[in-house]
Amino acid sequence: MAHRKNFESGNGTGPEHAGSPNGRTDQPAAHVTLIPGDGVGPEVTGAAVRVLEAAGVQITWDLQQAGAAALNKSGSAIPDSLLKSLRRTSVALKGPLETQVGQGYRSINVYLRKTFNLYANLRPTRSFEGVQAPFRNVDLVVVRESTEDLYAGIEHQVTPGVVESVKVITARASTRIARFAFEYARRHGRKSVTAIHKANIMKLSDGLFLKCARRVARDYKDVRYDEQIVDAACMRLVTNPHAFDVLLLENLYGDIVSDLCAGLVGGLGMVPGANYGGKGAIFEAVHGTAPDIAGKNMANPVAAILSGAMLADYLGDKDSAFRIRNAVGDVLGAGRTLTPDLGGSATTTEMTEAILNSMTNVEARV
Ligand code: NAD
Repeated sequence: MAHRKNFESGNGTGPEHAGSPNGRTDQPAAHVTLIPGDGVGPEVTGAAVRVLEAAGVQITWDLQQAGAAALNKSGSAIPDSLLKSLRRTSVALKGPLETQVGQGYRSINVYLRKTFNLYANLRPTRSFEGVQAPFRNVDLVVVRESTEDLYAGIEHQVTPGVVESVKVITARASTRIARFAFEYARRHGRKSVTAIHKANIMKLSDGLFLKCARRVARDYKDVRYDEQIVDAACMRLVTNPHAFDVLLLENLYGDIVSDLCAGLVGGLGMVPGANYGGKGAIFEAVHGTAPDIAGKNMANPVAAILSGAMLADYLGDKDSAFRIRNAVGDVLGAGRTLTPDLGGSATTTEMTEAILNSMTNVEARV
């Protein structure tokens, strides 16, 4: 696809993410790396691939393994063939990858985001009719910096019984993510950006993050800017989520707050995501491997399918992205074919097929 730039070219600081500038669909198939992932990953990415193909998005998939699946198969959690594929395609649809708690190899997600400079993790979180959730009409966008903070992985033992984890915040990365959030807000007609922080305690690190956000905000007078301390913001989110629009967060707060936001709209099975750099992107649901339901054909495929719609947008096929979102909305709204997390008894396959049918029926009516 002519409009996409390779992961390793350019300076990666441009605001040209969150949708390709090129809306053409008459292009040759895009090469996209497909990483099924661990746990429920293969089930939900499989659903997303079926829906993208049925929608007619022109993609040639390059199937690659990562994480536990790759470790079992090839002895490496990040095989060279995966890295080569990503360098070649610069875009991927990815399932969740397992990371052990307190031991084992470092997160492959963090590695991929850092290696390919995918600094902006975008998680649009919205309510759907027909989904039981604490609130209606929630429409939030989480913008999470994803190359630094405590995720830099700088940890050491000072002496037995004392360890340190280093929180790295730089002006460069903070300015870049703030500009991404404001640019996204402006392009998508969003009213406000709220920077969420703990600068009352971490005066230097979160203080720098805020300083950068304030500086960038001056260039976007058309978008309201405000700030909230992370603990108070969490309370506000669960009492009045409508008070928020675009949320701008460092890496760790962004991770935690985006799962909280998922809870507002029906759970982790509902929220898609994308990791953008200036030169490539990886699309993935917010949720993890869901080991408790893996292999049971019970996982909600919506988050992965909506991540697929974000991929279609990025590839310039806005029409397919629109039809995928409509079909998901129709199936959720009808409320007949829902997975157990949404209070139904449908399998992943049944819900995916209902979405496929809805797309076909709409096409037949047009
Ligand atoms: P999780 O998101 O896997 O699961 C949390 C809860 O949500 C579970 O009860 C699960 O069943 C449910 N859930 C998640 N996705 C669902 C879906 N599509 N449909 C229905 N229910 C769903 O979080 P966790 O249990 O904390 O993490 C499990 C593993 O996933 C860990 O190894 C973690 O490191 C990894 N993880 C990976 C990613 C990623 O690759 N991007 C993200 C988060 C967690």
